[in-house]
Formats: sequence, C-alpha cells, structure tokens
Amino acid sequence: MKNLTIENMANFCKQYGFIYQGSEIYNGLANTWDYGPLGTRLKNNFKDAWRKRFVQERPNSYEIDASILMNPKVWEASGHVTSFYDPKIDCKHCKTRFRADTFINATTNGKVNAETMTFEEMQNFIRDNHLKCPVCGHEDFTDVRKFSQMFETYRGTVDDKKTVIYLRPENAQGEYVNYLNVLRTTRSKLPFSIAQVGKAFRNEVTPGNFTFRTIEFEQMEFQTFCEPGKDIELYEYFKEYAKKFFMDLGLPEEKLRFHNHEKLAFYAKAACDIEYKFPFGFGELNGTHDRTDYDLSRHQQYSKQKMEYVDPMTNKKFIPYIVESSIGVDRGVLALLFEAYHEEKLGDGTTREVMKFHPYLAPYKVTVLPLVKKRHSEIALSIYKKLSKYFMTSYDDSGSIGKRYRRSDIAGTPFAITIDDNTINNKTVTLRDRDTMRQIILNIDEITTFVGDRVTF
Ligand code: ATP
Repeated sequence: MKNLTIENMANFCKQYGFIYQGSEIYNGLANTWDYGPLGTRLKNNFKDAWRKRFVQERPNSYEIDASILMNPKVWEASGHVTSFYDPKIDCKHCKTRFRADTFINATTNGKVNAETMTFEEMQNFIRDNHLKCPVCGHEDFTDVRKFSQMFETYRGTVDDKKTVIYLRPENAQGEYVNYLNVLRTTRSKLPFSIAQVGKAFRNEVTPGNFTFRTIEFEQMEFQTFCEPGKDIELYEYFKEYAKKFFMDLGLPEEKLRFHNHEKLAFYAKAACDIEYKFPFGFGELNGTHDRTDYDLSRHQQYSKQKMEYVDPMTNKKFIPYIVESSIGVDRGVLALLFEAYHEEKLGDGTTREVMKFHPYLAPYKVTVLPLVKKRHSEIALSIYKKLSKYFMTSYDDSGSIGKRYRRSDIAGTPFAITIDDNTINNKTVTLRDRDTMRQIILNIDEITTFVGDRVTF
C-alpha cells in the first residue's frame, strides 16, 4: 500500500483493535473515537514516554492531575469565555459549516494564508473571489461569525443559565490555578515546571481527519514558570526538546517542521507549532507558547490572590512568565501509527503488514506461541506467566505459526517466542525479531533480560 490514506488508517485501526468509531452501534457520534485494546496500550506508552522525558528526567518538574470542571471564573480570567472562538461560515444551500480561515486556505491550495485576516477580510475574500461550497458547489454563504469552542454544561439539577460551567478547552488553567500550591508544597525555586496529562474538549467547527481533530482529546502539557527575561531562551529550548522527543520515538526529521505563528493567540508573545507530514498535509502535533505573565496576572486580578514570586537570592518580586509546551496525545498517536505502518513483500511472494513501533511504544513487548497447542501449552503458559510480571505479554495458540507471526507483526510486538520440544527438553525457546524476522535461540531464563534491555526509552 504505497499511499496510506487517513481512511485506510481508520479502517486498519478498526480492524485490528487500535481505534474504533465512538458509539458505533448507534451509528457513532461524529468525530468521537474509542481506543481499543492495542490503541489504549499504545496511547498509554506514549504518555509514559512523555512523562519519562518531561517529568522524570527533568529537575524541578512535577505532575498534577487537576479537575476537568473548574470554577467558571477561571475561564473568564483566562479570556476563553470572550475570546476562544473560531470564524464560522455556513453554506446557506446545503447547510455545511466551515471554519472560514481553513476554508480559504484549502480552496486556494494554501496560496492564501487566512490566519492573519480579520472576519471582514475573510468574508470579502470569499465573496470577491467567488469561492464555492466544496460540498454542493453553490456560492451562497452566511456572514463569517463567531463560533465559541467552549462546551457548556450545567451544575445542579436545573438547567439554569446561572449555573453554567465549562468542559475545559485546555489543561493549562489547571496548572496555573495550582501554581501557588505546587510552588509551596514542593519548596521549588524558579524555573520550575508543572506537567499534566488530561482530556480537553473543544466544539470544533470542522472536526475531522480521523483522530486529528476531534471534539474530545487528550493533551500532555508542560508549563515552565520562569523569571521574565528568561522566557525566550526557554521557549527556544522547549521547541527543540519537543522535536527531539518525537524524533526519538521514531518520527523522522524530514517529516517534521516548525511553523511559527504569524497571528498570535490572545495570551501569547511567541508561538510555534511542530507539524508532522500526514497524508492530508502538514498538521500540528505540538505547540510551544511564550504566554508571558498573562495567565498569572489575570488570575491575580480575578481571584485577588497574589501570584508574585519572591526571588530568595535578590528579594525581587515579580509575576513569573510561563513557557508552555503542549502535545496532543491523539495526534501524536496518529503520527506514530502512520510512521509505524509498513507493508513488506516477503521472499515467498506473500506480503506482511507490520507495525514497526519503537519497542517502548509497542502495545505488547513479547508474545508467547506454543508450537503445538496440546503438547506445548503447559510450559508456554508458565513462561507467559513469568514474562507478564515484567512486560505486557500476549499469548496466541490458534492457527498456524505463520498466521500467529502475522498477527504479532500487526500488533507491532517486537518479539515472538516459540515454544516447542526444545523448550521441554533443553529449556530453550526460539525468539523472532519483528523487524528483521531473524530468529535466535535463547535459554528460558535469558528472555526477561533480553527483552527488557530492548524495550526501554
Ligand atoms: P489547531 O490549530 O490544530 O486547532 P491549536 O493550536 O488550537 O490546534 P493548542 O491549543 O496549541 O492547539 O493545543 C495543544 C495541542 O492539542 C495541539 O498541538 C494539538 O496536538 C492538540 N489539539 C488541539 N486541538 C485538538 C483537537 N480538536 N483534536 C485533537 N487534538 C487537538
């Protein structure tokens, strides 16, 4: 399969248990996705890799787990209630809704960048250039209007507008409102960082491209609090740090690029995305933002709590600047799926599909295959039991050994262990490498170390 499209990937993921359509038996809920057994493991391993790189291996870095539902004042202070919206435009004829800026970009094949246009400029551009609805071909649009990306819900038992609360559209505010708590309880000095992995919700105008743009997604966020003036250096540093993280997990440099924002979000002094080349074009995986002291100053103003930091060496008082590195878990997983997928012609004329995940990301690290079910199951199960104390281990005793290798390749399992008479007689197993398909003989008590040494990050 030379050109794996997003649809091919969605079908592949569904067929093998990586990702399913959300609420599928009820015809789904558009742009919601459920991770299956393989996808969930992959996603968890991706998050663990991030935790390792961003929390475990960094000094002064602390992970928290804040509530999704927050006091609505948080979102007034952050500016989201008034400023977090997309420019929407509807086709009056077929009722299809578009995000006006992406509609212009797509219709002009990227020759025009609507990112910096005002609503009025977008509207004029669409009218003056006679852009047509890509769905029905008519040229009959509404004005460009604001479309809030915030999902509202109600607290309590009555649908009362006064009790409206929001599903968080980003994790960041959970980190900011806990800045004083974390600073105090960890007795940290600046610069220090708060990390968080969690769900965010956005009522996107045009969700789509499988898990690339959804209304519910997960983010891995890393907020570094620093002295004003140290922010730009940290901002540059974290752009590279995040890029290296993706490359170390197997995304090749030639498919990654930085995209500096021309039009900055209301809170940012500088912003840069890391984009990956998906089949539908480059798409953002990560955003690095210099958010200045905007967030903490606003929270100080709205909560009346002092957000100042006193430098213990100089006694200088200031509100820290924040440099944010935010990665979309689902988009990262999607890029890793595309990169891992290989279709290979074998010597015997057959083809195999294999997911060449970084071994740390692989849903299962090793699979145990008894050659003959009746004869080898007992010892195979005892090996399986031992290995599963250390790694996610799978067990497969149905079908020919060739078919079982294929299943293990599709799951991206780095090692397959075949149990046969030699295992009973000599205490050895045959270990097959997923990528090279080469086989070696190992003693039973060597397996744990052999596999363990090769699945680290
Ligand atoms: P975009 O420009 O694509 O809408 P964004 O710039 O609004 O994204 P951020 O607010 O910087 O995104 O969020 C941080 C990360 O969260 C993004 O880099 C992306 O990986 C992820 N993300 C944002 N929106 C979505 C979404 N609707 N679905 C899936 N992931 C998302």
